[in-house]
Amino acid sequence: MIKYFLSLSLLLLGTSLIAQEAVQDQGLELSKTITPADLEAHLTFLADDLLEGRETGLRGQHLAALYLATQFQKMGLEPGNKGSYYLDYQLMKSDVKAIEMRMGKKDYQYKKDFFTFGGHGVPESLKGEVVFAGYGISKEGYDNLAEMDVTDKIVVLMAGSPKSQAPKRLRGQIYGWIARARALKEKGAKAALMILPQQGFDRLNAYAKPSSIVNISDGDEKGFPLFYLSPEMGDALLFTAKTTVAAQKTALEQDAAVKPLIFKKLKFAYKASVNREKLTASNVLGFIEGTDKKEEIVIITAHMDHIGKNDKEVFNGADDDGSGTAALLEIAEAFSKAIAAGQRPRRSILIMPVSGEEKGLWGSAYYTDHPVFPLENTVVDLNIDMIGRSDDKYAQTADSSNYVYLIGADRISQELHDLSEATNSKYTQLTLDYTYNAEDDPNNYYERSDHYHFAEKGIPIIFYFSGTHKDYHRATDTIEKINFEKMAKVTQLVFLTAWEIANREERLK
Ligand SMILES: [Zn+2]
Repeated sequence: MIKYFLSLSLLLLGTSLIAQEAVQDQGLELSKTITPADLEAHLTFLADDLLEGRETGLRGQHLAALYLATQFQKMGLEPGNKGSYYLDYQLMKSDVKAIEMRMGKKDYQYKKDFFTFGGHGVPESLKGEVVFAGYGISKEGYDNLAEMDVTDKIVVLMAGSPKSQAPKRLRGQIYGWIARARALKEKGAKAALMILPQQGFDRLNAYAKPSSIVNISDGDEKGFPLFYLSPEMGDALLFTAKTTVAAQKTALEQDAAVKPLIFKKLKFAYKASVNREKLTASNVLGFIEGTDKKEEIVIITAHMDHIGKNDKEVFNGADDDGSGTAALLEIAEAFSKAIAAGQRPRRSILIMPVSGEEKGLWGSAYYTDHPVFPLENTVVDLNIDMIGRSDDKYAQTADSSNYVYLIGADRISQELHDLSEATNSKYTQLTLDYTYNAEDDPNNYYERSDHYHFAEKGIPIIFYFSGTHKDYHRATDTIEKINFEKMAKVTQLVFLTAWEIANREERLK
């Protein structure tokens, strides 16, 4: 009886191994439906000028989303969000039309005497006492704010830092201008006016866009009004307190604490007109229900959005991340063919092109903050961002069509790393490069694409990436530079890895 039992279980083990092999080999057959020609067809649509650079919340991103959703529908993927293919979140677009600033008897001109970045933080009106805060630096051993209260004040400050302070101690991330302004906001200031040297003023003013789109999906956090003043305007302002920018700089070399200035003749008046418009952005969710392990979810992501257009150029983002987005469609198609062949995966698959990546990983953050499927049942996120080109390291080598950087595979689950390696050596034989997976990699790519929000929640991830190139975030990231042979191979690897994770007996540890 015992012997019989043993041999039966051995027999069962044997058949299940054979069955598993068969499933794996079917994965290989399915992966062959991922072709350079199909990828090119999808990308031809996604990277066209008509999509206007797919800026999050704008027409081009919605066209991309519509294309993705209708392709999913055609392939037979189910809508992943309670009957809908879309998971929407809310944005606010603000365009500054005009700002009037008057000090004393003089009217100052927007974009000539002063400018601002981003319309979101620009208020229609601004009233309050004006105070001077030196460089606005407040740290142990050097505190400009020691003798002042900035609550509800309009704070004037100077860019730069005192010569007497070692630049290394003051620079670093907390002492950038934006950070100083942010610290003022936290201390209750109403707005900041930052006096710039002429060169810096001209350089920044040239590309300061008076328009911004911000994410208001989790509350409409108003930005902080931060205006940059020309040195001339700065001196005119300080002149009403009988001093100058140069005199203040000298004074602050000796003594960090700013002596309060009395702006006797300063009458500050301000008025702005800002067009504000609520927008919607979307992630697209194509769902494939699994069989016996359908409660567990395998997620595959790429970002459909890019950085939009300006007056002269469209930023097509063919590689970033049209390539990953097209790859998702081919992976979706391979899974849909599996279902047609009666080989539904055991775990469920969520294929999710997200938006908002370029603005700060908004779409993936929105999903992980408002998950449609429980995160504790989410087994993995395989994220694809830029797989269509070769970087300088590989461009001139025999591997230029045969490599990919993998990032993050072993950080949460060693088993995922091993599985990914085994899948590649069995089927795709790409050169897997882990250069950017080093914990001390200065580029910090691990935190720079959508997988990061999943990793933060403890979900194992792999980030597939082929490195940057001279067209990165330029209008020249266009489709004719894409290597579709290489893109197909990497996409096959992602599919085969997902196929294996979805069909294996054990959940990834
Ligand atoms: Zn990207």
